[in-house]
Amino acid sequence: MIEIDAVSKLYGALPAVDDVSMTIAPRSIAAVVGTSGSGKTTLLRMINRLVEPSAGSIRLDGEDNRSIPGYVLRRRIGYAIQGHGLFPHRTVAENIATVPRLLGWGTSRIKDKVEELLTLFQLEPGVFAGRYPHELSGGQQQRVGVARALAAEPNVLLMDEPFGALDPVIRAKAQDDLVAIQKHLKTTIVLVTHDMDEAFRLADMIAVMDQGRLIQYAKPVDLVRHPASDFVGTMVGDGQRPFRLLAISKVADVVEAGEAEGAAIGAGSTQQDALAELIWSRRDALPVVSEEGAPLGRVTLKSLLQHAAAER
Ligand code: ADP
Ligand code: MG
Repeated sequence: MIEIDAVSKLYGALPAVDDVSMTIAPRSIAAVVGTSGSGKTTLLRMINRLVEPSAGSIRLDGEDNRSIPGYVLRRRIGYAIQGHGLFPHRTVAENIATVPRLLGWGTSRIKDKVEELLTLFQLEPGVFAGRYPHELSGGQQQRVGVARALAAEPNVLLMDEPFGALDPVIRAKAQDDLVAIQKHLKTTIVLVTHDMDEAFRLADMIAVMDQGRLIQYAKPVDLVRHPASDFVGTMVGDGQRPFRLLAISKVADVVEAGEAEGAAIGAGSTQQDALAELIWSRRDALPVVSEEGAPLGRVTLKSLLQHAAAER
């Protein structure tokens, strides 16, 4: 758990971060969004004390982060940034091993960890461990950067626009990988992004910042349904609201009794996927099945449209 308590950072007289309080639950993903210069990076870097707050405090699992030496804190907390920051003259395996080496892990434990992470990130260890960063594609470099940040098994991973430099297809893949890896390793992630789509895709909670202040900190669905201000509404994209709701809601939430013709959809799929399938296959209902393939009922076009509409 990360507790940010009334934290401010002044540069001269100007607040880069202005009295921000928020709590990030263990094993969740919180996204911090906002316009450029709104204080996202500064807030993130106060968690691992790359920046010292001017006021307020930050606790990690109840422990004030000022009671931990900065270098210890930064070994304990993973940090992944845009452009990955890999060491160019070290191999992929050496890059990933950076923090475990500093912590004095044994050779075989390090080797096992490097192999585990490369496999998890779908980089065949036999092929990639001995390569240098310049021998990798941009997407592969980015994955190695995140693998390196996770190598010492941190409870907390800070990410600052980690996918910003990737093209859209690779970016979507990297986002899917991150969710899978987070589920597997149970890491608490704070993700800074200026991309609202990315925030909606990944986050359990979204923090919207403007000019150093935290304007709203809420679940994605609440940000859409109850934006705290016009600024938040604009950030979410007023015209995007029904699509956002469909994208973040599951078929399980609208399944009803009854039957339908044709191929079934899983209850864990998004409502957006269900709508796409309904439109594309020219049906007005789909059978819904559980993860194990057991029939659960059906989802109809009508119920999807109702779910994506404004509350009355
Ligand atoms: P974001 O990541 O949201 O783009 P930043 O946290 O990088 O925003 O910056 C917030 C504000 O603080 C900006 O106005 C920026 O110019 C200022 N700022 C950031 N770092 C420094 C610094 N080291 N010295 C002075 N001003 C800074
Ligand atoms: Mg930034």
